[in-house]
Amino acid sequence: MGVPLIALEEHYAWDPASADNTVATWLRSNNTTAYDRLYDRGPLRLEQMDAAGIDFQILSLFDPGVQEDDDAARAIDYARRANDDLAETVREKPDRFGAFATLATQDSDAAAEELQRAVTELGFAGALINGRTHGRYLDDSAYEDLFERAETLGVPVYLHPTTPHPAVMDAWFAPYVDDGLHLASWGFAVEAGTHALRLIYSGLFDRHPRLQMILGHLGEMLPFSAFRTDRYYGLGGDVGGRLQRLPSEYLRNNFYVTTSGNFSPPAFACTLEVMGADRVMFSVDYPMDDNKDGADFIASYPMDEATRAKVSYGNAARLFGKKIPARLRGAAASRDAPS
Ligand code: ZN
Repeated sequence: MGVPLIALEEHYAWDPASADNTVATWLRSNNTTAYDRLYDRGPLRLEQMDAAGIDFQILSLFDPGVQEDDDAARAIDYARRANDDLAETVREKPDRFGAFATLATQDSDAAAEELQRAVTELGFAGALINGRTHGRYLDDSAYEDLFERAETLGVPVYLHPTTPHPAVMDAWFAPYVDDGLHLASWGFAVEAGTHALRLIYSGLFDRHPRLQMILGHLGEMLPFSAFRTDRYYGLGGDVGGRLQRLPSEYLRNNFYVTTSGNFSPPAFACTLEVMGADRVMFSVDYPMDDNKDGADFIASYPMDEATRAKVSYGNAARLFGKKIPARLRGAAASRDAPS
């Protein structure tokens, strides 16, 4: 048997919340296999997990979740119903599936309440937030209570990419939209990486030092840029240098990064070196990426077996604790035990 695998950025679609989803609509006409996988939380998904040796997925509603809805009340309703529905999936297969909450971040108070409910009543492992909500980013003071609750509950928030801000779309990407420059090839990472830096620069982690975030795609380019981010931090003017530590120290202490959709050996080498072996975790980004590609990458990358075990499942078992099946936590514990 291979090394156990826990995957954390694994998506599904659910109607009515996903009914107008741009990518899902495109897949329905152009890639029915991916479309079927996206809507399935049963046999098809389990078959794909088994074929790649993935033991456990934490599921999240496909970007943008409910966050694009102009009607906040409807978004709040969809988020609750999506979370209740996802809780059923986890109840049916607790040995294979966990859950990240969908939050209607249009209303920061409702999002905080729903996070609390999802974790304490539904047993969810945290929340996945699809970046900005309309024009607002999570460093807005309105979200202080949401992060306060995440810190107190001891659950991470997965900051997932979304389409860049409309002003950025106009200024940067408009001539190349047909080429998809604004999407996963570049725009998603710039948007999500900038969002994460905004959280760091806002002092969020000085106020909430135990808060933990997760970034996908090997850290949305932040590990590669960490040296220069630190080197030039605070050069913006009189207010620069407000943080207690350098930006990369928050990156290493308050963020985990996953391998979702970025199975690149040189990018992984950089990420592992900058973040350290305790801060990198396996993920696929199913069904946009292929389980087997992700599993093969992590199985074949040249690293020592202790590091492979941490990345494949050990770090996730430690971070999520009892939200992960006991057999996987047991595997992590027995590997950590002194021999
Ligand atoms: Zn994703």
